[in-house]
This record gives sequence, structure tokens and C-alpha cells, in this order.
Amino acid sequence: MDFLPELIMYILIVSIGGMISLFLSIYAFLKLRDAPGGKYFILAAAMSAIFTLAYAFELASTSLDEIKFWLKIEYLALPFLPLFVLLMCFDYVGQKVKRGIRNSLFGIATLTVLMQTTNDFHHFYYTSIGLKTDTPFAIADLEGGPWFYIHSLFLYGCIGASIVILFRQLRNKNFKFQMQVLLMIAGVLVPVVASFFYVADVTPHGIDLGPVFMSVSFILHGIALLPFQMFNVAPIARDTVFESMEEGAIVLNQNNVIVDYNQAILKILPVLQKLAIGKAVGEVLSESRLLVKIILREQKCDYELYIDGKLLHFQIRFSPVLNKKDVVVGKIVTFVNVTERVEMERTLKQLASIDGLTQVFNRTFFLKKAEEVFSRLSVDGGKASVIMFDIDHFKKVNDTFGHATGDTVLSYIARMATESLREGDILGRYGGEEFVVCLPDTSIDAAQKVAEALRKEISESYLMIEGKRLDLTLSFGISEAQIDAGEFGCSIQDVMGKADQALYAAKENGRNRVELFMKQFYPI
Ligand code: GH3
Ligand code: MG
Ligand code: MG
Repeated sequence: MDFLPELIMYILIVSIGGMISLFLSIYAFLKLRDAPGGKYFILAAAMSAIFTLAYAFELASTSLDEIKFWLKIEYLALPFLPLFVLLMCFDYVGQKVKRGIRNSLFGIATLTVLMQTTNDFHHFYYTSIGLKTDTPFAIADLEGGPWFYIHSLFLYGCIGASIVILFRQLRNKNFKFQMQVLLMIAGVLVPVVASFFYVADVTPHGIDLGPVFMSVSFILHGIALLPFQMFNVAPIARDTVFESMEEGAIVLNQNNVIVDYNQAILKILPVLQKLAIGKAVGEVLSESRLLVKIILREQKCDYELYIDGKLLHFQIRFSPVLNKKDVVVGKIVTFVNVTERVEMERTLKQLASIDGLTQVFNRTFFLKKAEEVFSRLSVDGGKASVIMFDIDHFKKVNDTFGHATGDTVLSYIARMATESLREGDILGRYGGEEFVVCLPDTSIDAAQKVAEALRKEISESYLMIEGKRLDLTLSFGISEAQIDAGEFGCSIQDVMGKADQALYAAKENGRNRVELFMKQFYPI
């Protein structure tokens, strides 16, 4: 009877291993849920706990039937264990597993459970189950069948794949991160090494100490995940700082899974309200691909959004979340409302380009736009015409009706001119009551028709000012530029100078007329 204390010792060791796994699973559930790989860690540690504790009962069994019962309980957990470890590693490094592959792996594990529990009917899993005869207590003697080998292949396949996935992460040169990955690798390797001892029959009485080492491996994984537990600490700081922020904010873990958000973000992205925590940001914001792209690339930028029918501008900013050891455990994405700034910038830009009285381009902006046309023509070749026009006897309008009426006349003329032009024509106020138009890809004859039409319309209409009739006429000068591709000598100023000469001629020749610049008349 002196073997009993020895057996009790083994049962005790195995039970302690099981309790450690159970403790780690519960601890991770409370503290590490949001860590990358955290969910699968919880599941894997739980499976390990079930398996190990059932194994303790198997060791304590005194009959073959009892052993077979506990084996079945062990196999409810065992086939899923390597699978959860593999998924934990994928999740830990932020890689996605294709749904098809995932389902197939779950399928194999489920089949193993079925094969093992129904073995008595087909002996596909074990070809024989008996008791060892050379041990002082009841230890199962199992002969593996075909599915047992498939299961072993699956187990080592999952472990092998896990190690490969983790090893690839070592390319990241961050030392702390490398240490974490090495811990994860060690965690995966420990039970493998232990099971070699079992297979090599070195363990006493063929007792499998693999389950005990599994708890060691989960301790190592737990340590590797520990830096990620920050999301659960300092809840008071979170509530006061995070919730009182005016900016909308989302907290993501390293795998871009949403772990938190504040109230302010719900006004910007109401879709987050629907149980978004724990889901990948790409999945939750799938309606807005651009936004997902911005968040995944972490590019600080402006983003426009219609909220309640109003166009709002946000600046999206990113800040890393570091734990106490300076390991990046996630990021905070903040949405800063910059609508006021953007609108102000737009107004300023407009003020810089538009003449306040007539609402057409000011001289500087007109020249900039016209120069762009001429640059294009210098490259591609082509023609453009320039019309300059001036209100006739405008001084008289001011003198007779007052300066305010003069202003009204100026905006009236600008409006009529805008309406008579085509899209692409560029109209600017060049000086007091003098305007200029650049007509790209337009011959002097076509420009003349445009000018004639406007001249006719103005001269045939009149304004009524305080019961008095106000007749207006305009004088026009036009010139054309014919530019060859690659010819860079012709500037907008040259063409305007010629149009101005033609305008002078129009005034000379009696006003209310259109004159064209002709080389033979005005040799330069
Ligand atoms: P012409 O037919 O030769 O062009 O005669 P004109 O009287 O129009 O000639 P001139 O160019 O000498 O006069 C332009 C006048 O336009 C002088 C100036 O007081 C007036 N003027 C310039 N800018 C403004 C403005 O913004 N508002 C008003 N009301 N008048 C302006
Ligand atoms: Mg004038
Ligand atoms: Mg003038």
C-alpha cells in the first residue's frame, strides 16, 4: 500500500495545474478580455482547466469504466485546446483567420470529440482500451487508432502554426515586444516538450504530466498579455477625463478592435451605439470605407460628415496608448470639430479672390487664373481671346446720381456680364469701372460676338433710379493670342495690353462699340 501516497502526490500536482489554469481563465476574463488574443486565452485556459482536472479524476479512478468516463470529459476540452491557442496567436499578432479555415478547424476538433466519445462502436479512435498491468494503480493503457493520429497531427499542426506565426513577429525590432513574443513562444513549447517525455516513456508509471505543464504555459501567456490589461484600470480617470472630452473619441486595441468610446463620439458616429465594443472597427464602420482606411492607416487628416443635414468638418487625430512599460497597447482616435476653422479659411480665401462690390474675381485672382490658361496653351498650343470693357461716362453717373448709385451700376454690369459669359470664361474687375474677360479656346471673332451681345443688351436696357431713367453703354476692346505648343513667349499682360489699345480706339471712335486689335492698325 506504499504506492498510495505517490499516487496522491501525482493527483495533487495535476489538480494544482488544473486549478492554476482555472484561475488564469477567470483572471483573464476579468482583466485581459480586451488584450489581443485575450478572448482565446480565456477559452484555452478554461479548456486546459477542464482537461487537467478531469485528468486528475482519471488518475484517481479505480476501474476502467471510471477511467473511460473521465477520458470522455477530457476530450470535451482537449481537441479545442490547440485550436484556441492557434486563434490566440493569430489574434495576438493581429492577423485574421479566414472563416472557411476557421470552420474547418472547428469541424476537425468537433469530429475528434465525436470519435472519442463513440469509440466503443467503431474503435476508430482507440483500437484497444485497457489497464496497464505493470503499475501499482489503475492507469489506462491506450492503443491509438486512425483518428487518434489525425488528432495528433491536428494538435502538432496547430502548435507548429502558432510557433511560425509568433516567430514572424520577431522581425519587429522593439525589444519589449520581442520579449513578449518569446514568452508566448515558450508558452506554446512547454507542453510540447513535456509530451515528448510522455511519449518517450520517461515519466513515472506512464503518468502524463503534459496537463501540469499546460498550466505553466498559460502562466507564460498570461505574463505576455499582462501589459495589455490597462483598459481595465483607472476607471475613475476614464470617466472624468474621457467622458468630459468635447471631442469624440474611440479607443482601439492593437488589433483595431473597439474597446471603448465616449459619449461625444455618438453624435458623430451613432452607429457605435449598437454594441460596438469588442468588434473590429472595420466591421462596425463598414458603411464608411474611407473612414476605416484613415483609422487603419493612422493618417492625421480632415474628414467631412453630414450631421443633421449640416456639413461638419472634423480633424481625425491619433495618439498611441502606452502602458506603464511604454509598450503600445492601442490607440485613441479623436474627432476634433474644426468646422469653424474650415469655414473661416474658406471665407478668407473668397475675400482674397473675389471683389467685394461686384462679386467677380479681383485683379490679382483674375491674373492668376488667366495665367493658368496661358500656361496650358504654352504646353498644348491653341488660342485665347481677351476682352476689356469700360463703362462710358461713368463719372457722370456718379456726379448725377451719387456714388451709391455708381456702386449699384457696377454690380449690375458685373451681373449682366457674368450671365452673358460661358462656363470657363474668366471675368475680373480690373480697375474702377473697367472689366476684363479671358476666353480660353476662343477666336477673336467668337469673342466679338460675345462682346457685341453684351454691348447690345446694356445699351438697349436702362435702370430707373429714383424715378429717373439711367441709360448705360459700354466700350469694348478685344485681342487674340494664338500660341504654338512649346511657345512660352506670350503672356496675358501682352494680350491685355493689346485689348486695352483696342478699347482706347473704341472710346476714340465714339464709345458704345466693340473694337478688335489688328496688328496692321497698331504695330508694336
Ligand atoms: P469714359 O467713357 O472715358 O470711360 O469716361 P469715364 O467717366 O467712365 O472715365 P473715367 O475712367 O475717368 O472715370 C471713372 C470713374 O469711375 C472715376 C471714379 O470716380 C469712378 N469709380 C471708380 N471706382 C468706383 C467705385 O467703386 N464706385 C463708384 N461709384 N465709382 C467709382
Ligand atoms: Mg469709363
Ligand atoms: Mg475707366
